[in-house]
Amino acid sequence: MRNGTEIRRLGVMGGTFDPIHHGHLVAASEVAHHFDLDEVVFVPTGQPWQKADQRVSSSEDRYLMTVIATASNPRFSVSRVDIDRPGPTYTIDTLRDVAAAYGPDVDLYFITGADALAQILSWRDAGELFDTAHFVGCTRPGHPLQDPGLPAGKVSLVEIPALAISSSECRDRVAAGEPIWYLVPDGIVQYINKRRLYRDPAG
Ligand code: ATP
Ligand code: MG
Repeated sequence: MRNGTEIRRLGVMGGTFDPIHHGHLVAASEVAHHFDLDEVVFVPTGQPWQKADQRVSSSEDRYLMTVIATASNPRFSVSRVDIDRPGPTYTIDTLRDVAAAYGPDVDLYFITGADALAQILSWRDAGELFDTAHFVGCTRPGHPLQDPGLPAGKVSLVEIPALAISSSECRDRVAAGEPIWYLVPDGIVQYINKRRLYRDPAG
Protein backbone atom coordinates (compact mmCIF):
# COMPACT_ATOMS: atom_id res chain seq x y z
CA MET A 1 0.00 0.00 0.00
CA ARG A 2 1.17 3.51 -0.79
CA ASN A 3 -1.01 6.56 -0.01
CA GLY A 4 -3.84 4.09 0.47
CA THR A 5 -3.43 2.76 -3.06
CA GLU A 6 -2.70 -0.87 -3.52
CA ILE A 7 0.36 -1.70 -5.60
CA ARG A 8 -0.65 -3.99 -8.44
CA ARG A 9 1.65 -6.74 -9.62
CA LEU A 10 1.90 -6.75 -13.38
CA GLY A 11 3.58 -9.40 -15.51
CA VAL A 12 5.03 -8.30 -18.83
CA MET A 13 5.45 -11.10 -21.36
CA GLY A 14 7.37 -9.93 -24.40
CA GLY A 15 7.67 -12.07 -27.49
CA THR A 16 7.51 -12.24 -31.24
CA PHE A 17 4.39 -14.43 -30.96
CA ASP A 18 4.70 -15.62 -34.57
CA PRO A 19 2.49 -17.46 -33.70
CA ILE A 20 1.60 -17.41 -29.98
CA HIS A 21 1.39 -21.02 -28.67
CA HIS A 22 0.50 -22.94 -25.52
CA GLY A 23 4.10 -22.73 -24.24
CA HIS A 24 3.73 -18.94 -23.97
CA LEU A 25 0.32 -19.22 -22.32
CA VAL A 26 1.39 -21.85 -19.78
CA ALA A 27 4.50 -19.84 -18.91
CA ALA A 28 2.43 -16.69 -18.29
CA SER A 29 -0.15 -18.60 -16.26
CA GLU A 30 2.47 -20.34 -14.11
CA VAL A 31 4.40 -17.15 -13.40
CA ALA A 32 1.14 -15.31 -12.61
CA HIS A 33 0.29 -18.00 -10.07
CA HIS A 34 3.79 -18.17 -8.60
CA PHE A 35 4.10 -14.39 -8.08
CA ASP A 36 0.42 -13.73 -7.38
CA LEU A 37 0.24 -11.32 -10.32
CA ASP A 38 -2.92 -9.27 -10.85
CA GLU A 39 -2.49 -9.21 -14.61
CA VAL A 40 -0.13 -10.32 -17.36
CA VAL A 41 0.22 -8.04 -20.35
CA PHE A 42 1.51 -9.69 -23.52
CA VAL A 43 3.61 -7.35 -25.62
CA PRO A 44 4.22 -8.44 -29.21
CA THR A 45 7.54 -7.02 -30.44
CA GLY A 46 7.88 -4.54 -33.23
CA GLN A 47 10.71 -5.34 -35.63
CA PRO A 48 12.54 -8.11 -33.71
CA TRP A 49 16.20 -7.03 -33.94
CA GLN A 50 17.49 -10.44 -32.84
CA LYS A 51 15.57 -11.94 -35.77
CA ALA A 52 16.53 -9.30 -38.39
CA ASP A 53 17.69 -12.03 -40.76
CA GLN A 54 14.34 -13.87 -40.64
CA ARG A 55 10.99 -13.14 -42.19
CA VAL A 56 8.47 -12.27 -39.50
CA SER A 57 4.70 -11.97 -39.95
CA SER A 58 3.21 -8.49 -39.88
CA SER A 59 2.86 -6.81 -36.50
CA GLU A 60 -0.90 -6.67 -37.00
CA ASP A 61 -1.19 -10.44 -37.57
CA ARG A 62 0.97 -11.17 -34.52
CA TYR A 63 -0.98 -8.66 -32.43
CA LEU A 64 -4.35 -10.11 -33.45
CA MET A 65 -3.23 -13.69 -32.78
CA THR A 66 -2.08 -12.59 -29.32
CA VAL A 67 -5.46 -10.96 -28.66
CA ILE A 68 -7.34 -14.07 -29.85
CA ALA A 69 -5.21 -16.42 -27.72
CA THR A 70 -5.54 -14.37 -24.52
CA ALA A 71 -9.14 -13.13 -24.90
CA SER A 72 -10.75 -15.73 -22.64
CA ASN A 73 -8.49 -15.04 -19.63
CA PRO A 74 -9.68 -12.05 -17.58
CA ARG A 75 -6.13 -11.58 -16.19
CA PHE A 76 -4.42 -11.51 -19.59
CA SER A 77 -4.25 -8.44 -21.80
CA VAL A 78 -2.25 -7.29 -24.83
CA SER A 79 -0.33 -4.06 -25.33
CA ARG A 80 0.52 -2.35 -28.62
CA VAL A 81 3.43 -0.31 -27.18
CA ASP A 82 6.13 -2.19 -29.09
CA ILE A 83 4.32 -2.53 -32.40
CA ASP A 84 3.30 1.14 -32.38
CA ARG A 85 6.85 2.39 -31.60
CA PRO A 86 8.90 2.79 -34.78
CA GLY A 87 12.24 0.99 -35.04
CA PRO A 88 13.59 -2.12 -33.37
CA THR A 89 12.21 -3.20 -29.99
CA TYR A 90 14.41 -2.92 -26.93
CA THR A 91 13.18 -4.34 -23.62
CA ILE A 92 14.04 -1.14 -21.75
CA ASP A 93 11.61 0.79 -23.99
CA THR A 94 8.93 -1.87 -23.49
CA LEU A 95 9.25 -1.60 -19.72
CA ARG A 96 9.30 2.21 -19.73
CA ASP A 97 6.21 2.40 -21.95
CA VAL A 98 4.26 -0.22 -20.02
CA ALA A 99 5.18 1.52 -16.75
CA ALA A 100 3.96 4.84 -18.21
CA ALA A 101 0.70 3.28 -19.44
CA TYR A 102 -0.11 1.62 -16.10
CA GLY A 103 0.99 4.47 -13.83
CA PRO A 104 3.15 4.49 -10.71
CA ASP A 105 1.26 1.96 -8.61
CA VAL A 106 2.50 -1.18 -10.35
CA ASP A 107 5.41 -3.52 -9.78
CA LEU A 108 6.60 -4.99 -13.06
CA TYR A 109 7.64 -8.61 -13.53
CA PHE A 110 9.26 -9.17 -16.90
CA ILE A 111 8.68 -12.76 -17.96
CA THR A 112 11.11 -14.32 -20.34
CA GLY A 113 12.42 -17.72 -21.35
CA ALA A 114 15.61 -19.02 -19.77
CA ASP A 115 17.15 -18.88 -23.26
CA ALA A 116 16.42 -15.16 -23.61
CA LEU A 117 17.50 -14.48 -20.02
CA ALA A 118 20.93 -15.88 -20.80
CA GLN A 119 21.39 -13.09 -23.36
CA ILE A 120 20.14 -10.41 -21.01
CA LEU A 121 23.48 -8.89 -20.16
CA SER A 122 24.00 -8.07 -23.82
CA TRP A 123 20.81 -6.01 -23.85
CA ARG A 124 20.92 -2.26 -24.11
CA ASP A 125 20.83 -0.47 -20.73
CA ALA A 126 21.08 -3.76 -18.81
CA GLY A 127 21.69 -1.87 -15.55
CA GLU A 128 18.53 0.21 -15.79
CA LEU A 129 16.54 -2.89 -16.77
CA PHE A 130 16.97 -4.33 -13.30
CA ASP A 131 15.81 -1.10 -11.65
CA THR A 132 12.63 -1.10 -13.74
CA ALA A 133 11.38 -4.65 -13.23
CA HIS A 134 11.90 -7.94 -11.51
CA PHE A 135 13.00 -10.54 -14.07
CA VAL A 136 11.49 -14.00 -14.22
CA GLY A 137 13.23 -16.62 -16.31
CA CYS A 138 11.14 -19.63 -17.32
CA THR A 139 12.58 -23.00 -18.14
CA ARG A 140 11.74 -24.46 -21.48
CA PRO A 141 12.71 -27.79 -22.97
CA GLY A 142 16.24 -27.81 -24.33
CA HIS A 143 17.27 -24.81 -22.24
CA PRO A 144 18.54 -26.03 -18.86
CA LEU A 145 17.68 -24.02 -15.79
CA GLN A 146 20.86 -22.41 -14.57
CA ASP A 147 21.61 -19.18 -12.81
CA PRO A 148 23.08 -16.95 -15.51
CA GLY A 149 24.97 -14.91 -12.89
CA LEU A 150 22.59 -11.94 -12.87
CA PRO A 151 22.18 -9.41 -10.06
CA ALA A 152 21.01 -11.03 -6.81
CA GLY A 153 17.38 -10.41 -5.90
CA LYS A 154 16.47 -9.05 -9.32
CA VAL A 155 16.00 -12.34 -11.12
CA SER A 156 13.96 -15.44 -10.33
CA LEU A 157 13.96 -18.71 -12.21
CA VAL A 158 10.70 -20.64 -12.44
CA GLU A 159 10.25 -24.17 -13.70
CA ILE A 160 7.36 -24.42 -16.12
CA PRO A 161 5.74 -27.79 -16.90
CA ALA A 162 7.67 -28.76 -20.01
CA LEU A 163 5.91 -28.00 -23.26
CA ALA A 164 8.28 -28.64 -26.16
CA ILE A 165 6.51 -26.14 -28.40
CA SER A 166 8.14 -23.29 -30.28
CA SER A 167 6.81 -20.82 -32.82
CA SER A 168 9.47 -22.02 -35.29
CA GLU A 169 8.16 -25.58 -34.99
CA CYS A 170 4.58 -24.36 -35.54
CA ARG A 171 5.60 -22.40 -38.66
CA ASP A 172 7.55 -25.37 -40.04
CA ARG A 173 4.58 -27.67 -39.43
CA VAL A 174 2.19 -25.37 -41.28
CA ALA A 175 4.64 -25.05 -44.19
CA ALA A 176 4.89 -28.87 -44.33
CA GLY A 177 1.11 -29.33 -44.18
CA GLU A 178 1.29 -30.89 -40.70
CA PRO A 179 -1.31 -30.14 -38.00
CA ILE A 180 -0.76 -27.62 -35.21
CA TRP A 181 -4.04 -28.41 -33.43
CA TYR A 182 -3.49 -28.42 -29.63
CA LEU A 183 -0.03 -26.83 -29.94
CA VAL A 184 -1.79 -23.46 -30.28
CA PRO A 185 -5.32 -22.39 -29.27
CA ASP A 186 -8.05 -23.37 -31.75
CA GLY A 187 -8.64 -19.75 -32.77
CA ILE A 188 -4.98 -19.47 -33.79
CA VAL A 189 -5.20 -22.54 -36.05
CA GLN A 190 -8.21 -20.93 -37.70
CA TYR A 191 -6.62 -17.49 -37.97
CA ILE A 192 -3.46 -18.96 -39.57
CA ASN A 193 -5.62 -20.82 -42.13
CA LYS A 194 -7.78 -17.82 -42.84
CA ARG A 195 -4.78 -15.51 -43.39
CA ARG A 196 -2.75 -18.28 -45.09
CA LEU A 197 0.25 -17.60 -42.85
CA TYR A 198 3.44 -19.73 -42.96
CA ARG A 199 2.43 -21.56 -46.16
CA ASP A 200 5.66 -20.74 -47.99
CA PRO A 201 8.43 -23.05 -46.66
CA ALA A 202 11.05 -20.35 -47.38
CA GLY A 203 9.24 -18.05 -44.93
P1 ATP B 1 10.76 -18.83 -32.22
O1 ATP B 1 10.76 -20.32 -32.36
O2 ATP B 1 10.33 -18.11 -33.46
O3 ATP B 1 12.02 -18.30 -31.61
P2 ATP B 1 9.45 -18.90 -29.64
O4 ATP B 1 8.61 -20.12 -29.52
O5 ATP B 1 10.78 -18.91 -28.96
O6 ATP B 1 9.59 -18.50 -31.17
P3 ATP B 1 9.04 -16.19 -28.85
O7 ATP B 1 7.92 -15.32 -29.30
O8 ATP B 1 10.40 -15.96 -29.37
O9 ATP B 1 8.58 -17.70 -29.16
O10 ATP B 1 9.06 -16.32 -27.27
C1 ATP B 1 8.64 -15.34 -26.36
C2 ATP B 1 9.08 -15.78 -24.98
O11 ATP B 1 8.42 -17.00 -24.59
C3 ATP B 1 10.58 -16.06 -24.94
O12 ATP B 1 11.08 -15.51 -23.74
C4 ATP B 1 10.65 -17.57 -24.92
O13 ATP B 1 11.80 -18.06 -24.25
C5 ATP B 1 9.37 -17.97 -24.18
N1 ATP B 1 8.90 -19.28 -24.60
C6 ATP B 1 8.66 -19.67 -25.87
N2 ATP B 1 8.24 -20.96 -25.92
C7 ATP B 1 8.22 -21.41 -24.63
C8 ATP B 1 7.88 -22.69 -24.02
N3 ATP B 1 7.50 -23.73 -24.75
N4 ATP B 1 7.98 -22.76 -22.67
C9 ATP B 1 8.39 -21.69 -21.93
N5 ATP B 1 8.72 -20.48 -22.45
C10 ATP B 1 8.64 -20.32 -23.78
MG1 MG C 1 12.49 -17.93 -29.51
